[in-house]
Amino acid sequence: MDARITLDDRTFLLVLTGAGVSAESGIPTFRDARGLWESHAVEEVASPEGFDRDPGLVWRFYSERRAAAARCAPNAGHFALVAAEERLGDRFLLATQNVDGLHEAAGSREVAHIHGELFVTRCSDPDCPAAPFRDERCDFPPPLPRCPCGALLRPHVVWFGESPLGFQPVKRRVQSCSLLVVVGSSGTVFPAAGLVREITLRRQWGERVRSLYVGLEAPANAADFDALCLGPSGETLPGLFEVCR
Ligand code: NAD
Ligand code: ZN
Repeated sequence: MDARITLDDRTFLLVLTGAGVSAESGIPTFRDARGLWESHAVEEVASPEGFDRDPGLVWRFYSERRAAAARCAPNAGHFALVAAEERLGDRFLLATQNVDGLHEAAGSREVAHIHGELFVTRCSDPDCPAAPFRDERCDFPPPLPRCPCGALLRPHVVWFGESPLGFQPVKRRVQSCSLLVVVGSSGTVFPAAGLVREITLRRQWGERVRSLYVGLEAPANAADFDALCLGPSGETLPGLFEVCR
């Protein structure tokens, strides 16, 4: 595949981004952080079991992540995706595994946050009718924050062992797009890592559809892509899309 992609009136583009797209903004990927926070395994502070065990520790972890993300700014990779959305409108869908909010900070309008959002809080009781709400607080002194219903509040982030949020529209779009571009994702976190297989299957049925990976190194599911465009996404993405008007 040509490393430049022409965006025209026939393009239906689905983009999935992972931690790599924010690396050049200064947000460590899972691997850069070596899966650790202080001396805790991330699973210990990013799981329902961890929250049941020590909600104060979990809130301290997410408060630090909020404070760190608030200091970061979007990079050229985020902005290149804004330009693609401006060109394609409804024929563009951006799905992200990132919780950092940098796509919106760059100007992206429609973002499917399949792993939730760092700056949103919700009730920990799944049966509570209270809606998730925007929350930029970065410090949670005791007592822990509670919902009016009495249950503890929790970060609106998908934890280990939980299902992605709002994945249905993404699954629908992978059945109708003409191109899937995955950016900076190690290809190990499912179900997002399985999207590219859908493209392979559609092509086996004779459809004209392509897939491209953009990132620093080949992901675990590299063999499933039609082409790899290796390099930092902040450098690669701005030159990738050729916008035809
Ligand atoms: P990952 O950490 O498993 O993989 C990151 C990938 O990005 C790697 O393949 C790496 O080669 C690539 N990469 C590193 N620097 C890059 C750059 N400059 N340009 C392009 N690619 C680069 O990330 P993942 O696959 O998204 O899965 C990690 C999980 O942890 C996700 O569930 C995500 O929700 C969460 N997470 C989120 C953030 C965030 O919100 N920014 C950060 C870390 C982890
Ligand atoms: Zn509640």
